[in-house]
Amino acid sequence: MTSNELDLFVIGAGSGGVRAARMAASAGARVAIAEERDLGGTCVNVGCIPKKLMVYASHHRDEIEDSVGFGWSGPEPTFNWNTLIENKDREILRLNGIYRSLLQDAGVEILESRAVLLDPNIVGCGSQERSARNILIATGGRPTRPEFPGNDLALISDDVFELAEQPKRIAILGGGYIAVEFANIFEGLGSKVSLLYRRELILRGFDRELRLELEGAMRARGIDIRNEVRAIGLQRRGGELVLDLDDGSTIVADQVLLATGRTPSTSGIGLRRAGVELDREGAVRVDDYSRTSAAHIWAIGDVTNRMNLTPVAIAEAMALVDTLFRDTPTAMNYRDIATAVFGQPCLSSVGLTEEEARDSLAEVDVYRSRFLPLRHTLSGRSERTLIKLLVDPSSDRVVGAHMLGPDAAEIIQGLAIALKSGATKAHFDATVGIHPTTAEEFVTMRTRAEP
Ligand code: NDP
Repeated sequence: MTSNELDLFVIGAGSGGVRAARMAASAGARVAIAEERDLGGTCVNVGCIPKKLMVYASHHRDEIEDSVGFGWSGPEPTFNWNTLIENKDREILRLNGIYRSLLQDAGVEILESRAVLLDPNIVGCGSQERSARNILIATGGRPTRPEFPGNDLALISDDVFELAEQPKRIAILGGGYIAVEFANIFEGLGSKVSLLYRRELILRGFDRELRLELEGAMRARGIDIRNEVRAIGLQRRGGELVLDLDDGSTIVADQVLLATGRTPSTSGIGLRRAGVELDREGAVRVDDYSRTSAAHIWAIGDVTNRMNLTPVAIAEAMALVDTLFRDTPTAMNYRDIATAVFGQPCLSSVGLTEEEARDSLAEVDVYRSRFLPLRHTLSGRSERTLIKLLVDPSSDRVVGAHMLGPDAAEIIQGLAIALKSGATKAHFDATVGIHPTTAEEFVTMRTRAEP
């Protein structure tokens, strides 16, 4: 070992890379991290955080409309896009600074340039060559652009956060997290939104009943959802864009957003030279301990395309640091990870969907409640909340909890602890609710839904 050899060189300072670098340094390792863009990666700069700030912004229209039924009145407020973007930018800059101090305080060396593997133990970074006993690939992913003529005229999600003005009309391609969240954000901010999805129902992979309910709620809010369509061409016409669809229809919009998935960022970092194999989707192939096909090279987060969520990348980082620097080989457990689509209403889930439960269990008991939240008795809004519990009758274990409605993500986070702890329906029944809340419905449902 040479005197300046690092214990860990991390490529990519996103959620996973930063957590791994900090924790490894705190465990006594000598660590450097390389980042060619802003510290914090996708989540902090062009993902979860600015997106959630925009979600809050979009909710205010509902709050204002709902307040009338509670006795409030006054001049109608207006929305200013530039104020939102400037305030958001200031907060992101503050977070970049926090990430820098967290790394520095932990003793991590920060290299602000692109890093390239020169061989399995040497990384080139700017003018330096650094040797490391372990290298971690945490380069994340980037949005994909489906192929059709004129696709370069469309935005990707990164661009939305710095648009000079709010589009009055926006067409969004895709039916996953990003498409649904931005459709609701722009609708809430007053844009006219079209959502164009290639299959029959948005949010493939989530519980079908919630997908149906959300799609209905979005339509009722005025979002033009078109299923089973694909884009075949995009052209500029004066100051507007014309999007041609394969059903023969055309949409005229100020902006078109491609929200059609993300692809792992693996090119141009010397992975092949270092012996790191990719899978068929182009993600870094890893074992249960995040080890790649090269002995001392590891990978976590979206670049491995396991479960592309920030908290998962962070948990993978913690497991890796235990494995490498705490003498405790730890495999990440992907069971019962809660997730949310911050739509309007919000959809959140943990555990199996009803479809997955029916496929994997001999029998499933379904408990369902669909109701008008108390708040809407005065707000006049007709949007229903839907909650579901799925129970395996052979063990009484609750195997899935799903919610569509206000605060769904906040509520499901708590239920995830119950599922992770193996809670049974009897445990839910023995829990006394907090009244009046939506969450209490999860502990008061007693009647099985008809199959
Ligand atoms: P998703 O994988 O969630 O959705 C991609 C969508 O685009 C799907 O509806 C998919 O359809 C569709 N699609 C894919 N390829 C094409 C194509 N060539 N033409 C037309 N449609 C296409 O990806 P997102 O981009 O929405 O988000 C990326 C990832 O980021 C997510 O998987 C998620 O892990 C993460 N994320 C998490 C968030 C959260 O936790 N709240 C928020 C935002 C992102 P089909 O269903 O047919 O495959």
